[in-house]
Amino acid sequence: MSLSPIEALPVEILQDIFVRSLNLDLPLSSPHVGTKLSSTHCYLAACFEYLYTPIGDRIRQSRLQSRIFASRWMTWQFFQIFATKAYEAAGCVCGQHECEKAIWPPDFANPKSMQFSIGHLTRLSYIKCRIPAKLLHGPWTEEKVQFLRYLVCTTSMTVDWADREVRKIALQGKKEAILERNYEAVELFNHNRRLGKAPTIELVRFAVLDGGCDRSIVYDIMASARSWGYRDWDDEALDKWVEQAIAHHNPKGKWLKLKLSELRRHGGFLGPHTGDYSIDGDELVVKHYKACRVGEIRPRFSVRN
Ligand SMILES: [Zn+2]
Repeated sequence: MSLSPIEALPVEILQDIFVRSLNLDLPLSSPHVGTKLSSTHCYLAACFEYLYTPIGDRIRQSRLQSRIFASRWMTWQFFQIFATKAYEAAGCVCGQHECEKAIWPPDFANPKSMQFSIGHLTRLSYIKCRIPAKLLHGPWTEEKVQFLRYLVCTTSMTVDWADREVRKIALQGKKEAILERNYEAVELFNHNRRLGKAPTIELVRFAVLDGGCDRSIVYDIMASARSWGYRDWDDEALDKWVEQAIAHHNPKGKWLKLKLSELRRHGGFLGPHTGDYSIDGDELVVKHYKACRVGEIRPRFSVRN
């Protein structure tokens, strides 16, 4: 089959057309065109146009931002290239030149280490669009967890809860994180309301009965639920699991019994160390969660739609 006139254009000219028009439909117009446009040069041009500066139409910009993040080429590695290139000239993640509180380079692996404040946020907080479905489900690789954590910490992106398919993926993704015993991913879901409702005893039950009672994960779910104000800790299925575990000399049984009794006590204190024990492969890791600032403060560069 012969190529259409646009497909037959030399790569340089086609890329030039894309960079000038920044029409995200162009790469999708045909596989030939898509291949010719698949270059860091083109991708960065699209990011600089739609993730970097206001285009004067908030709704359209938000939609285009969502499309960019959903693209296959928007990987964690590519995002780091963009976020570095975008603000390295300024020398601070806020994008202001000669910033007195300069934060540079961005701490991609540990965004919570960057000290944002109300008047000093990363300029990425301007990005307000949908978290792509590809970052909401397992397998929870280190790369995926880091990418999701960075977006939750530095942008104003949210899950599209109105989309039933995305909703299902996110809810399932949380369970997959528990089943994969990926503490970092579970922690993200537990503590960020943009990724779903606060945990309740239902999630504790799932983590114990289906997830094999990884104590670090179960503890984090309990502590998080408690900190979000959850108080209804009675559950027959959990009590039954505890009894059986104790009868089978599984130390998790006694530990969980104590945690549940602590939570059920009026105004109960959940002790990180009470009843703890250490067996190879069954260690309790308790982290004190540090919230991401962008999730709590209205961003300076917020685009509302
Ligand atoms: Zn700054």
